[in-house]
Amino acid sequence: MIFYVSLLLSLGVALDAACPEIVSRAQWGARNVNSQAMKVPVSHVFIHHTAGATCNSKDTCSKVARQTQNYHIDTRKWADIGYSFLVGGDGRIYEGRGWKAVGAHTYGYNSKAIGISFMGNFDKAQPSAAMIDAARKLIDCGVEKKFISANRQIHGHRDAKCTACPGAALYSIIQKWPGFKGGKLPGYVC
Ligand SMILES: [Zn+2]
Repeated sequence: MIFYVSLLLSLGVALDAACPEIVSRAQWGARNVNSQAMKVPVSHVFIHHTAGATCNSKDTCSKVARQTQNYHIDTRKWADIGYSFLVGGDGRIYEGRGWKAVGAHTYGYNSKAIGISFMGNFDKAQPSAAMIDAARKLIDCGVEKKFISANRQIHGHRDAKCTACPGAALYSIIQKWPGFKGGKLPGYVC
């Protein structure tokens, strides 16, 4: 019976075509912290960039994830890495706070949004096709698993705050995604 259930579960994962590869917190060596549960599905998705280092392999992207988490916890004094997920230059997704925890990425929207951050600075540089594909798959995966509402609104961080994030180059890309909303959101802060 146990074998049968685990067989079904593994088949379920294998058939989950909408979801990209997600490197878990354990896999990238995250510090363990407590998280605050978030009510799902959420209505908003915010796209960010880290404005920091880029990476091109599981090893280097895991290192950037650890550095980002250390910065957010030790310097910013947040409970954990701020983002729900990060997108590596290797085309993999790195689990941040995940689907079901309140983040620290978008002031005013942390308890009702998933925050996805591209590792690197995309003001002038273009993210690779693999990064864009991974991020879009992650959103589709979230909708399919009912963590994100089917009629979600996609924004750049700059729609909620006067910041350059997620960079001009990346922002012009996400404007073409289905569900992109844009424009100054209620509660816009400087
Ligand atoms: Zn941001």
